[in-house]
Amino acid sequence: MEKLNIPLSVPNLSKDIVPMIEECIETGWVSTGGRFITEFEEKVANYVGAEKAVGVQSGSAGLHVAYRVMGVEAGDEVICPTATFIATVNPMMYIGALPVFMDCDDTLNMDLEKLEEFLMNNGQWTMDNGQEVLMNKNSGNKIKAICIVHVFGNPIDMVKVMEIAEKYKLKVIEDSAESLGSYYTKDGEKQAHTGTLGDIGVYSFNANKILTTGGGGMVVAKDKNILDKVRFLSVQAKTDPLYFTHDEIGYNYRLTNVASAFGVSQMNQLEGFIENKIKNYNLYKEAIKDIDGLEILPFNEDTRANYWFYSIMVDKDKYGIDRDELLVKLNECGIQSRPLWGLMHDQKPLKKYEAYKIEKARHYVDNLLNIPCSTNLTSEQVGAVVGKLKRFSNV
Ligand SMILES: *Cc1c(COP(=O)(O)O)cnc(C)c1O
Repeated sequence: MEKLNIPLSVPNLSKDIVPMIEECIETGWVSTGGRFITEFEEKVANYVGAEKAVGVQSGSAGLHVAYRVMGVEAGDEVICPTATFIATVNPMMYIGALPVFMDCDDTLNMDLEKLEEFLMNNGQWTMDNGQEVLMNKNSGNKIKAICIVHVFGNPIDMVKVMEIAEKYKLKVIEDSAESLGSYYTKDGEKQAHTGTLGDIGVYSFNANKILTTGGGGMVVAKDKNILDKVRFLSVQAKTDPLYFTHDEIGYNYRLTNVASAFGVSQMNQLEGFIENKIKNYNLYKEAIKDIDGLEILPFNEDTRANYWFYSIMVDKDKYGIDRDELLVKLNECGIQSRPLWGLMHDQKPLKKYEAYKIEKARHYVDNLLNIPCSTNLTSEQVGAVVGKLKRFSNV
């Protein structure tokens, strides 16, 4: 069998970064200070329509600090999806917070009807330090926040999320690690970007994300004081810069100047990346609609998603082979594909936490396949993948 080499999602770097890296070397600004950090932060803030953004070393680091500044403490519950990458949940573990796992709906995002039902049935108001707060009446713990994820770059209905959060006095953390560039639209007009509607939003620039700095992340927040706090905690919570006094426990989470130089270069290309993602998605979609038993999942209406990952559903009865067989065949001929993440509430360290009526997520874990979607994927490569998808059908 001919061997292809089509990776799932790889970086797309440009040489215009070289002079910036040279500048880092010549000036010695390679660490957590330097002009590219500010420049990258400003570029991202402008792009997403936020007043300010704070660069951190990874999306995970950003989420860790985000939970902290949202007031999540040990023993507090945070509602989050079960269908996500584990980096949504790990930082809760660092704090000692308790996840409550929610199901997904057919958009792969958190099922907001179940979220409401859960809060209505299990939430109970209680007094805490003279303030009314929500308690989970089964566990007796406070419910502090909701962390939503825009899965594969597909924007969740944030209007609904914020409505629910307001009703139950919960903070909203937007794990926008996968959704840089995704925004809402109204009558075709651009509205807010994902990450900017919740109390705090976090982007990731890991190597497989739409834009990469090698490793990195960025935090945006509605409240400027919250964002200042993020920055403060990311540089070891130094209260006095000369005498080194610290009144709180911080982290070494600041983004480096070298990583930021990558970010500056990548930001110039981001819209072009998304254009290519959309073009390739449409090529796949046209071809896949003629293959019995395969369906490419759509992105939500009234949004301009960044089309980060493409997902297809495999119906064994119609396609002839199941998802796992197809996955093996694709990978064998050099087309890198993979299933949805293992669900969070099935992971060994997370099994003991509450999971609320998980049904749909299981179906997607069993039948979903992510196919190559790099920003530099060519139409010839899309054609090669489609050719195999047609050939492997066994009906
Ligand atoms: C990638 C990712 C993260 C973590 O980002 P890193 O920069 O890799 O730490 C968090 N949440 C989701 C949903 C992700 O896809």
